[in-house]
Amino acid sequence: MVVFWGEQQIEKVLLWPDFQACLDNYVPLSQWSDQKRRAAYVTLDADAHLRLVVFFNIAFDRQGFIERKWNLPLLHMGEIAGPGPDLGQGPIRLVCRSQCPISWHTAQLWDPLLSQGIDEFVQIHAAVLTQLRRLGWKPGSVASAGAATGNVAGKRQVAGETELPPQTAAAALVQQEALNRKLEQMELQFKVKERETHELRVREQFEHEQSLAILNAQRTKLLGQCKWLQQQNEAVREQMSVLQMQISHYQEMEVRSGHQQEAIEERHRQRVAELEKNTQAQLALQQQAFAAQLEMERARNREQEAVNQERLHALQGQLQGKEEKIHELNTRTQQLSEHSAEQFLLRLRDVGMNFLVFHPGAGHLSVPVEELPAYVDNPVAYAARKCYVDTDRYLAWLKHYQEPRCMAALPDGTVCGVRIIRIDSPTRFAPGESDRCSRHPSDRSIDAVLQFRPIDPPGRS
Ligand SMILES: [Zn+2]
Repeated sequence: MVVFWGEQQIEKVLLWPDFQACLDNYVPLSQWSDQKRRAAYVTLDADAHLRLVVFFNIAFDRQGFIERKWNLPLLHMGEIAGPGPDLGQGPIRLVCRSQCPISWHTAQLWDPLLSQGIDEFVQIHAAVLTQLRRLGWKPGSVASAGAATGNVAGKRQVAGETELPPQTAAAALVQQEALNRKLEQMELQFKVKERETHELRVREQFEHEQSLAILNAQRTKLLGQCKWLQQQNEAVREQMSVLQMQISHYQEMEVRSGHQQEAIEERHRQRVAELEKNTQAQLALQQQAFAAQLEMERARNREQEAVNQERLHALQGQLQGKEEKIHELNTRTQQLSEHSAEQFLLRLRDVGMNFLVFHPGAGHLSVPVEELPAYVDNPVAYAARKCYVDTDRYLAWLKHYQEPRCMAALPDGTVCGVRIIRIDSPTRFAPGESDRCSRHPSDRSIDAVLQFRPIDPPGRS
């Protein structure tokens, strides 16, 4: 069985299979989630007397399962447990913090009998008996008072009855038993205290050594840093002196170079001034030369121009002379040709030739040699003159003579075109009058009719 304590009293008793189910994470103990508990593994003999007790600590995770890192070998520890107090049936076997057969598990165990007035063995026996009764177990032939202490005391009483005289001997035996118990408890407590003191001492010594080591390390480190800083300081000082020397050197150089620079600048200024002067002089000279050359060129050009002008004038005069000569020659040529043509025509007349032409209206005309040029210039005008009409009227009559039709204009832009009687003489032809049909008489014909009427009526009336 496994029993668990609350604050001071036993809170729960589990049978070994149930505890194993908890260990295998089948069943959580959720009421103890995230808590630690004191517990004890207990074995009993057939009469429900304690034979082995292992006091151990146990912790639960947030879901109430036993923490996975918990791994005490309770059964094995029980097998190799040392002797504990005698609770009436000889010494039980006990495993606790101050009596642990496996030294590296010591920290996970605890010691009973630390609280005054509380006997964990009595608590275990009472709780186990209650649990057994609940499971239907009944005490056998052995007498039991029901309470654990009474049970133990009763056992002792049975044993005492067989050997000692009644009453006093029994009382003495009980007293002796009580004293023995007390002594054993005190021995156990002493062992526990001794172990605690020893642990405390060991822990203090360890802590002391640890802090000493830390302090030593810090000291060594600080010393090292101090040394390093000193070295650095030295190095910086050396660098400083070197830099100082360099600065003074540079200052000297600067002064020297300042002088040199001034000299160079002075020389440079002089050189520039000289160059400027030279350049200006050269420029002036070049300008003068250029101006002179320009002037010469201009004079030469002017001379050339005058010569050219004279030459032009002469050429123009020659050209005019030539043109006059050409004109004279042309006139002479014309006169000569006219003269020769006239001579030829006169010779033709002298040999008895006539120049006959025919024109409608005028009939056959004999053109004298003197009038030939005028006839050749404009034959129509010549014919018109011979008919005693002007050229326009002759042309209008000629058109009528060749195609005698009415020329009255119609509203649609065409002419009437009806055939009319031809008038043979241009002198009797009046445009706009003679070329009209009976349906289109001219305005003058109408006027003539109108003028004729008023003469008649007065004679008759
Ligand atoms: Zn007409």
